[in-house]
Amino acid sequence: MGEVDSSKKVADRYLKREVLGEGTYGVVYKAIDTHTGQTVAIKKIRVGKQKEGVNVTALREIKLLKELKDPNIIELIDAFPHKGNLHLVFEFMETDLEAVIRNHNIVLSPADIKSYIQMTLKGLAFCHKKWVLHRDMKPNNLLIGPNGQLKLADFGLARVFGSPDRRFTHQVFARWYRAPELLFGTKQYGPGVDVWAAACIFAELLLRQPFLQGTSDIDQLGKIFAAFGTPTPSQWPDMVYLPDYVEYQYAPPSALRKRFAMASDDAFDLLSKMFTYDPKARISVQQALEHRYFTSAPLPTDPDKLPRPAPKKESSNSKASDFNPNEGPTVLSPPRKSRRVMPERVSFEGNAPQSDKVDDHVGDIRQAAGESTSRNEPVPMSVDFSIFGAKPPNRPTINSADRTHLKRKLELDFQQPE
Ligand code: ADP
Repeated sequence: MGEVDSSKKVADRYLKREVLGEGTYGVVYKAIDTHTGQTVAIKKIRVGKQKEGVNVTALREIKLLKELKDPNIIELIDAFPHKGNLHLVFEFMETDLEAVIRNHNIVLSPADIKSYIQMTLKGLAFCHKKWVLHRDMKPNNLLIGPNGQLKLADFGLARVFGSPDRRFTHQVFARWYRAPELLFGTKQYGPGVDVWAAACIFAELLLRQPFLQGTSDIDQLGKIFAAFGTPTPSQWPDMVYLPDYVEYQYAPPSALRKRFAMASDDAFDLLSKMFTYDPKARISVQQALEHRYFTSAPLPTDPDKLPRPAPKKESSNSKASDFNPNEGPTVLSPPRKSRRVMPERVSFEGNAPQSDKVDDHVGDIRQAAGESTSRNEPVPMSVDFSIFGAKPPNRPTINSADRTHLKRKLELDFQQPE
């Protein structure tokens, strides 16, 4: 199946269009939802060899992600298996924050920057409230819709499929946005990692270029320490106990206020609080949203007035306009009998997503950070509540009726062809 057939339908519903790019977990396609006529983005995730089936724990998590609905979170519309791959269907977005930052024809006023970072923090606040961490915050994961709304993409996927950065040797990962506790190998991290990443994005909006561009994990910490000064034990008491802690030569803080001369005092104050070394002392997303920066003049720009690049052009082989929702799509799913169910497993072990070398290496492969290597040891793929220190109190659970329904649905839907 080398060619991309523009009339191909997936799971009897989605009309496949061009490849949009390749991300951490697999190839992303543009598609038309034949039920609604809506344009969507489908992320195809290779979940393992055909006979292994699809992990039920992961599917439960995916189901929970579907419940996360907020104006600043990209909506997961649908999730289904097809030909041994898990397909995640998201609302289609026109551009992303990286394209905004990199486009030097775009002028970002202080009010525009405030608006973009406020939407980022609002999306994060919603998810942290639901006990979901992002863990892969970077400007190209902040997608922008036709009305200027910024929405966090890939939310929670890191928890379902494992930390992307450690599994993909061919993939870039967002080292530049990693919190120091992650770089020192902490196993018990919390929402603070997303706050640090959001601070890096805030800095990048102000500077119009990535702030801390390390070339390795060691160098990343070096860059952080050169900017803020090497942390002292009184600033960050737990630092010396972190698994990969190594002592760095003392460096004094740099003249950061000068580097961020374009920032208002309020902006700089908030930025500094988000860049706090000790994750326990770091400002939370909710506190950040309550910072006076967001209520002092200038007020954030209305999203629909935000400057952004022209939406990506429709590709020439796309026939979205010819699409007739009344034409019944072809069913591609295999007949039920030939499918099989896999018993539930506790982890995603051996079921890591792989690069889609076979049929999907078409289209542009984005190299967001210009890096090509990453750490290689695997991380546990199971759902990990220890990231919050304790089991979250209000985490939504699947009740028994849901469970029976889900199980039946999974038995029907998530069987693999022999
Ligand atoms: P990464 O894992 O590197 O963050 P993604 O898997 O999110 O990358 O996306 C890969 C490509 O697909 C990117 O070019 C991104 O812009 C595009 N893309 C992802 N989701 C959407 C969407 N909902 N709408 C439009 N384009 C998308």
